[in-house]
Amino acid sequence: MGLNKNSTGIIVTSSDSMIKKKENTDKIIALAGNPNVGKSTLFNQLTGLKQHTGNWSGKTVANVQGYCTYENTNFIFVDIPGCYSLMAHSAEEEIARDFICFQHPDCVCILCDATCLERNLNLVLQILEVTSHVVVCINFMDEAEKKQIQIDIKKLQNLLHVPVLGITARKKHGLHKILKQLHFVSSPDFTDTFFIPYSSYIEEAISTLSPVVEEFCKDIFPTRWLCTRLLDANENFLSSLEQYLGYSLLEQKTVKNILEHIQEQLYEKGISPEKLQDDIAAAFIQRAEFFSKQVVFSQKSIYHSHDRLLDRIFTSKLTGFPIMFLLLLFIFWITIVGANYPSAFLNKLLFSIEDNLFDLFHFLKFPNFLCDMLVLGVYRVLAWVVSVMLPPMAIFFPLFTLLEDSGYLPRIAFNLDRCFQKCCTCGKQALTMCMGFGCNAAGIVGCRIIDSPRERLIAIITNSFIPCNGRFPILITIISLFFIPFSSAHFSSLLCAFLLAVIIIFSILITFLLSYFLSKTILKGLPSSFILELPPYRRPQIGKVIVHSIFDRTLFVLGRAIAVAAPAGLLIYLMANIQIGNLTLLAHCSNFLDPFGRLLGMDGVILLSFLLGFPANEIVIPIMIMAYMANGSLMEINDFRFLHQLFVENGWTFITAISTMIFCLMHWPCSTTCLTIKKETQSFKWTILSFFIPTLTGIFLCFLFATTARAVLFLF
Ligand code: GDP
Repeated sequence: MGLNKNSTGIIVTSSDSMIKKKENTDKIIALAGNPNVGKSTLFNQLTGLKQHTGNWSGKTVANVQGYCTYENTNFIFVDIPGCYSLMAHSAEEEIARDFICFQHPDCVCILCDATCLERNLNLVLQILEVTSHVVVCINFMDEAEKKQIQIDIKKLQNLLHVPVLGITARKKHGLHKILKQLHFVSSPDFTDTFFIPYSSYIEEAISTLSPVVEEFCKDIFPTRWLCTRLLDANENFLSSLEQYLGYSLLEQKTVKNILEHIQEQLYEKGISPEKLQDDIAAAFIQRAEFFSKQVVFSQKSIYHSHDRLLDRIFTSKLTGFPIMFLLLLFIFWITIVGANYPSAFLNKLLFSIEDNLFDLFHFLKFPNFLCDMLVLGVYRVLAWVVSVMLPPMAIFFPLFTLLEDSGYLPRIAFNLDRCFQKCCTCGKQALTMCMGFGCNAAGIVGCRIIDSPRERLIAIITNSFIPCNGRFPILITIISLFFIPFSSAHFSSLLCAFLLAVIIIFSILITFLLSYFLSKTILKGLPSSFILELPPYRRPQIGKVIVHSIFDRTLFVLGRAIAVAAPAGLLIYLMANIQIGNLTLLAHCSNFLDPFGRLLGMDGVILLSFLLGFPANEIVIPIMIMAYMANGSLMEINDFRFLHQLFVENGWTFITAISTMIFCLMHWPCSTTCLTIKKETQSFKWTILSFFIPTLTGIFLCFLFATTARAVLFLF
């Protein structure tokens, strides 16, 4: 990757090549570790704002680099994706493995969680096999102290033969020590060797293979490590190795012959390739356990007792599900109630600017039709999207991030895992569904956490069954108009949140059903086993949560919605104002769609509103109002009685209301989501399927519901 430092010192990379040094003395430091061990925290502490975010070439996984200077040496830190092992299964693990194994960083700084060191040591040992230029940082020392866990750092250092430091990244404790050790260890003079003892038959195979492998790769890789990898024969690794070397090592006659000979011998001893792989993996796990027993001291009764108690409450069959439901209810209630006031304020503010915009465009001598198009078309839709979308997102995303940071979200995945297993998918899908409540595009990006490609695709395709923030206003409006008596003002928001929660449970059930259907048809396969980490409960950092969720999520989603809403505003305005005969283009289209809409329990206007709401679902209700009132621009009606009357006069009944809600839950994903699906799957086929599967399900269910309801009404 072409690497330049611009005048502000920020590293700029071109996306398709590898990370390179500007000066020969620069040091590339890989920051590695399991997920949630504080890598990003340490990375930010060390590099401050001097960061650059891009993508790993050919992958959709983020690549963040930053730099800092210590004793006249520039350190280029690369925050590689969190992983549990180098025996990669997911895209993230592949990137981490390839970076550590093939990009030869000057040093790998491995972060570990002091409160669960044994599991973290597994990765440390795997990396130590590849390189001895390693500094191990044991983070969360503050939490370890609270839980009365003691770690003998010195002894661990002696066992691992590399520097080991105890740090608390959140409080910036130990940063200077880290830089000092990195400086020391990244020197080429620092060499030490670390061996993992394997079962005797693996050791034998390694010594048979070593002399030939050494011939090819002596100065490139540690021979012992490469021999084990060749025996392990992970296809994905072998293809990365071939790409790196520029030739296939396995095709070299001597290597091939010896490997075949070893395989024959193993076969005669009754050792299958799977057993060999398991034994290699087990060697690391046993060693990690062995080391951990020597250096970690804890009073078992106190250790984790607090977390265990919470887990008993949050994940037990009796209390786990009700708590999940109540939390969901609370989050929706607070989002609905809390968003009302800022939404109304923003709405007033943004719409009050309309007149000023008119004045400005008239002053600039724009023709009248252009002024109308820009203000009543483009600006009005933009103002609408911002005022309706921003407040609920600004409430929902921080709440969601709080749950994430506190450690509760993985418990949701744990609770729902059994249900997902029954649908032949995995519990991690629950997390991506939770993200989908905020924004389906965010949920789909989140599907990267699912290792199995089959399960990832199922999660991507079914994510749009989960109503996002953009669809909540439609559901809330219809619930308020048709299912809550106007007299019960005091309870309306609570009742509304309750009904919304019921609808959401329905959408979750449909997601299960569709996931099952997909895993029995086009995406057949067994559910994979996976490691679901239940991290310790932590007190979230409120400030960081707000900044992270506002900037990383809210503004990101809003930006994308605005980009598509502007052209949509123009199109809607033109359709509502271009007349053909006595009718507008909008009326012609809705008349055309009317018979089909009625078959589904709705009407042409509703269907057309969903079609025109493709860029952002927030504008669906305003388009309906505009079409029913035969108005030339989007308009809002805050008086629910009047809105109810308008809808009823246009033929709405309970059947229309319920059919519209079903269709709102199940129709094509919005344009941003479709784009995201294309990016994530890199496939038109899956994008088109993700478009049609919810749409056809919605059409089918609406038809079924409307026909049954009409038949029942007719009979009784
Ligand atoms: P990453 O997934 O490895 O990048 O982990 P993050 O940097 O996102 O950290 C995960 C969580 O641990 C965040 O809530 C951090 O604020 C918190 N965290 C990081 N370092 C420490 C630490 O030293 N002590 C405590 N108590 N929390 C920490």
